[in-house]
Amino acid sequence: MFIVSVDSDLCVGCGECAKSCPAQIFVMDSGKADVGEGECMGCQTCAIVCPVGAITVQEY
Ligand code: SF4
Ligand code: SF4
Repeated sequence: MFIVSVDSDLCVGCGECAKSCPAQIFVMDSGKADVGEGECMGCQTCAIVCPVGAITVQEY
């Protein structure tokens, strides 16, 4: 299982994470990305595409 978190202080609301996540976990809310429903598969795509390094994906 993976825990995904977005640092909202860093997020610039570009939406790249929401576009690229195969599990469609991200929701855009008030110009920021938030983590919604869905099961992360740990691919790290979101962390790679985020231009500001706001996303961390941790296995637990
Ligand atoms: S690691 Fe992959 S599946 Fe998990 S939230 Fe990021 S893009 Fe989506
Ligand atoms: S890719 Fe990064 S900066 Fe862009 S919306 Fe997602 S978390 Fe925010």
